[in-house]
Amino acid sequence: MECKKTEDILKLQNQLKDAKMKNTKLKKENKTLINDLQFVRSQNEKLVIEFNTFSLKSIENLEKLQKIIGKLEQMYFVVENTCAHFIQKLEKQKQIHLKEMDELKRDLDKQNQDDITCSICLVAWDVSGSHRLVSLFCGHLFGDSCIRSYLNRSEICPTCRMPCRQDQIRYIYGRRILPKQ
Ligand SMILES: [Zn+2]
Ligand SMILES: [Zn+2]
Repeated sequence: MECKKTEDILKLQNQLKDAKMKNTKLKKENKTLINDLQFVRSQNEKLVIEFNTFSLKSIENLEKLQKIIGKLEQMYFVVENTCAHFIQKLEKQKQIHLKEMDELKRDLDKQNQDDITCSICLVAWDVSGSHRLVSLFCGHLFGDSCIRSYLNRSEICPTCRMPCRQDQIRYIYGRRILPKQ
């Protein structure tokens, strides 16, 4: 009876030892798990902070971008307006230049007409015949018949009033001062 009791005690002692060992092991595992959990929590916190910072930065960047786009739109508007104004100005200048060119062309035509026109009868002189092109001693040009009858009445050039005689009349053959054939 006594022996059975001692055996039971030993068995119980062994079981207690086992339980203690298991408990120690579990405690160790538990500690590791707690450590892991803490690590995961700290990582999570870090990630949350990073995400918040990133979100904030994203919003800031978005606002900056919107501001830049606004400024660009303003600049574009100004450039567009300036261009329109410039084109308008150019168009006006073009009209002025066209008008000036027209006037110059008319002047030139008149001048060309003057170059081939006898200043006494205001008709173009001829290449040959009675109203053919002649010059006086002073160099001025007339139609032959016109200057001959003029010098019958007066012995001066009707243009520059230099004394000139009929025998000083010369035929001129220059192509550029003759009328077009
Ligand atoms: Zn004439
Ligand atoms: Zn003259």
